[in-house]
Amino acid sequence: MPKNLNMFSLEGKTALVTGANTGLGQGICVAYAGAGANVIGVARRSCQETADKIAALGIEGQHFTEIIADLSDINAIQHVLAESAKAGRVDILVNNAGIIKRCDAADVSMEDWDSVINLNEKTVFFLSQAFAKNWIADNKGGKIINIASMLSYQGGIRVPSYTASKSAVMGITRALANEWAKYNINVNAIAPGYMATNNTQNLRSDEQRSDEILSRIPAGRWGTPEDIMGAAIFLASGASDYVNGFTLAVDGGWLAR
Ligand code: NAD
Repeated sequence: MPKNLNMFSLEGKTALVTGANTGLGQGICVAYAGAGANVIGVARRSCQETADKIAALGIEGQHFTEIIADLSDINAIQHVLAESAKAGRVDILVNNAGIIKRCDAADVSMEDWDSVINLNEKTVFFLSQAFAKNWIADNKGGKIINIASMLSYQGGIRVPSYTASKSAVMGITRALANEWAKYNINVNAIAPGYMATNNTQNLRSDEQRSDEILSRIPAGRWGTPEDIMGAAIFLASGASDYVNGFTLAVDGGWLAR
């Protein structure tokens, strides 16, 4: 790597990414491995496909470790903490796991509301807290990258619990940055635009909504997991050491409209 790009290197770092088996989380795992990090993937299901993609990069000495956990259960946090400690010090935490439930606001059940808020908001906060406690204690800093959304800025349609949770993610990102910047812990977020993953499968199969969305994306296409790799590496690396509490949109220009 040319010397002036060394600031983006993740060599010697370990990154833990939630929701690592598919979609954006998988893309972030592959990006981090490519930038030199060891990667710990947390997911409800096997991350074998992610492990294979990382192995295909052919980076000598690179490790990928999988932790199976259901992060909708707050008790999973201690399990993740204990298992990840076996792989060494975690330096980078990416809170990526998230779900969306589409339903008219008038019909949303409390059960569905809680399931979205628990995973997308409560676990994001308490997993961040768990790692930050260690980082404050060992005084070696860390990086937290939360995955926000266009619905951190906008209201959305028929996804009120998701909007509530992702608006909270942007707020939590700022709140934690304010408290932890002094410990060299950078807390930032990425707000992906409309990306072609399982999360948007239903939206993309609704022809009318799909056309409405595509027609207002200046880039004229859905994003891909590859599209957020650069932002994810930047916010995990030394290149972003003085970036705190910011949510970086990677949205093909959606918010600029
Ligand atoms: P996805 O549905 O493909 O991936 C979601 C990931 O979260 C999967 O790995 C899944 O296993 C994991 N997950 C879900 N419930 C879990 C649980 N209880 N415990 C552990 N892991 C769980 O969707 P994606 O698009 O890759 O979504 C990743 C993140 O990006 C989410 O937070 C999502 O809200 C956000 N996002 C996606 C888009 C988009 O357009 N695709 C846009 C903005 C934000």
